[in-house]
Amino acid sequence: MSHSHILVTGGSGFLANSIITTLLSRGHTVTTTVRSAAKATALQSQHPSINIKIVPDMSQLSAFDAAVTNHTPPLTAVIHTASPFHYSITNIKTDMLDPAVNGTVGILQSIHKFAPSVNRVVITSSFAAMSNPLKPAGEKYSEKDWNPVTWATAEQPENALSQAGYRTSKALAEKEAWKFMEDEKPRFSLTVLNPSLIFGPVSPALSSLEEVNTSNQRIRDLVSGKFRERCPPTGSQFWVDVRDAAMAHVVAVEKTGDEVEGKRFFLTAGNFCNADIVQVLGEAFPEVKDGLPQGEALREGRFPEGGPKYGFDNEASVQGLGVVYRSLMESVVDTVRSLRVVEGRQ
Ligand code: NAP
Repeated sequence: MSHSHILVTGGSGFLANSIITTLLSRGHTVTTTVRSAAKATALQSQHPSINIKIVPDMSQLSAFDAAVTNHTPPLTAVIHTASPFHYSITNIKTDMLDPAVNGTVGILQSIHKFAPSVNRVVITSSFAAMSNPLKPAGEKYSEKDWNPVTWATAEQPENALSQAGYRTSKALAEKEAWKFMEDEKPRFSLTVLNPSLIFGPVSPALSSLEEVNTSNQRIRDLVSGKFRERCPPTGSQFWVDVRDAAMAHVVAVEKTGDEVEGKRFFLTAGNFCNADIVQVLGEAFPEVKDGLPQGEALREGRFPEGGPKYGFDNEASVQGLGVVYRSLMESVVDTVRSLRVVEGRQ
């Protein structure tokens, strides 16, 4: 496709950084949004050619109105990645639902009203919007699956706290995005990507290991020896490398036609458990082996007897977006190398 001008929201984030790098490498013009001037300065030094706009609070539905207007060349596509991803939730509404849902609906409204040149929108949803506690073990996950949470059940404790609260925010944000498309029938088309847990190199712009994004924290913490006495349970047993997820986002804005427009895609390289990460770390970085959990300390990080709880079908992402998934070995090794670059500067 010809080169485009693409707005990426949440440019200071882990995934967005990889998306911006990929877009630039393919010759696109990039504008991004961040929440503060300090984040803009750090990001600009890493990517001198991009335009950066400050959007302090995307809980306001009109937050992106200015960010989508007055661009030269005009914007042709938007990739909306910004959304809170952490598990320390004290108020599901203000911490999670307002920024996740209003940020998503708000940017769709802003584009609809003020950015007639935009013809493609890609939203980063998540496996969190697919995960269904009622799904029988042994079945395969694919983009046909939906998290059953609704507005009526969102504030129940089992949906509103910790990981569940994050999952609820992603599920309701994606449901509202598809509802917007149905109700408003805008001139742009929508593609939604549903990555599983993302590992992979962190931005070299990070100033400390404290800032490592949520999904890479388990790798950081295994390497530091924090889990020597007890490996935590894996949680959802699917993963994807950030560079593969980023490429999927870029192909999703570049490609036209029914294969991608109006579709959602599950992004996963496959199953993993925390014990697999431990094994990679032990093999590739023998110097950290003493700090890794072993024997009984590794028990909760293993697959249950019989293997992964669910299978997966990632064929749509392979066929429709051309994703070539990296191995866990490559992803974990490159993650650790990137963490060492950050550590070296602390
Ligand atoms: P991240 O590094 O924490 O990035 C999140 C981005 O969202 C950051 O730019 C952050 O801005 C922004 N953000 C968070 N809360 C915000 C708020 N209230 N208002 C405005 N901006 C806000 O996490 P990530 O892993 O890159 O996540 C990016 C996207 O991928 C999210 O939509 C996430 O749900 C999705 N995802 C991630 C994974 C994963 O395993 N990492 C898996 C599936 C889906 P600041 O930099 O200012 O905090």
